[in-house]
Amino acid sequence: MMDQKVETQGIVIVGEEICQEVISRADAFSAVEAVFGAMAKGDAYNFPVVREAIGHADALYGFKGGFDKSGLTLGLKAGGYWPGNMEKGLTNHQSTVCLFDPDTGQLSALVGGNYLTALRTAASSSVSIAHLARKDAKVLGMVGAGHQSTFQLRAAAEQRDFEKVVAWNPHPDMLPRLQAVAEELGLAFEGVSQEELGAQADVIITITSAFEPLLMADWIKPGTHIACMGTDTKGKQEVDPVLFQRATVFADEIAQSISIGEAQHAVAQGLIAEGDIIPVGAVINGTHAGRASAEEITLFDGTGVGLQDLAVASVAARIARERGLVTSVTL
Ligand code: NAD
Repeated sequence: MMDQKVETQGIVIVGEEICQEVISRADAFSAVEAVFGAMAKGDAYNFPVVREAIGHADALYGFKGGFDKSGLTLGLKAGGYWPGNMEKGLTNHQSTVCLFDPDTGQLSALVGGNYLTALRTAASSSVSIAHLARKDAKVLGMVGAGHQSTFQLRAAAEQRDFEKVVAWNPHPDMLPRLQAVAEELGLAFEGVSQEELGAQADVIITITSAFEPLLMADWIKPGTHIACMGTDTKGKQEVDPVLFQRATVFADEIAQSISIGEAQHAVAQGLIAEGDIIPVGAVINGTHAGRASAEEITLFDGTGVGLQDLAVASVAARIARERGLVTSVTL
């Protein structure tokens, strides 16, 4: 009998702190932009999402995976939401990215996914702003002031010469955190009503856990770019579905946008059809012109796909490996 060859493959472990150290917003932007482009070309695809209420600790747990043939990134993000974690001094959202060698199927990296989730979500809206917002945008409107909001603000602020942030949150006591970041970035800050936010903002980001519209279509002025980032589950909702009829609609992934994204409501009400939504990757690749006029409202439905997680995790693992900051193990 032939001896079976013992196969060992170095697996790198990249912890949360190392992720924070090695990957910049610019790295995340490039990685997310590239993978959205690959998805639109058909070079990268997301696997069906698994999300289960596990019947323990009130937790939701699941997997988001995919394969990017152009970036050679294969893997999944495993994790979910544990509502009791805060009392234990832990983040409620927990995730880990597993990367595999697409040539052999061997595990190549385990990467902490908590920080990267916020970074890749902010990169998604900022990619949409870079490609779709008016170049002369001056006022950024923020709807939401939770964990993701400061990441969103920092990333968006790098895309245009904003002068001011106007913000609204259903829990106004959370606004000072956002204000501190705006001021750190040298931007004026004003807490406003939802209607006033629509009247002033040239670019709007919504990033809440809302289950009903927070912004009505009539409040949004011509020329606005709005990135709807909070709706990532069936039933969640942040804006008036009528806005989808008035806007040119883009998404990270159309299948997800119409099922669990903000577009789910407009599609269910027959206000738009799946075919009305343009993958933002088509704009990135130059196969769609993007914004057609200064008066057009553009809406980006950023639902959050597994390939975004894999893209940023793969960059973090590469840089950490290059800098000798990884722990290596073999299975
Ligand atoms: P968080 O819990 O830190 O903050 C929640 C935000 O929503 C706060 O602004 C809060 O005031 C507001 N809010 C809470 N309950 C609300 C309600 N019933 N109605 C209206 N607003 C409400 O959460 P976070 O980590 O900042 O995440 C915000 C949202 O973004 C969540 O819905 C989350 O699932 C989603 N998210 C999306 C992506 C993506 O890729 N699209 C990625 C990560 C998070």
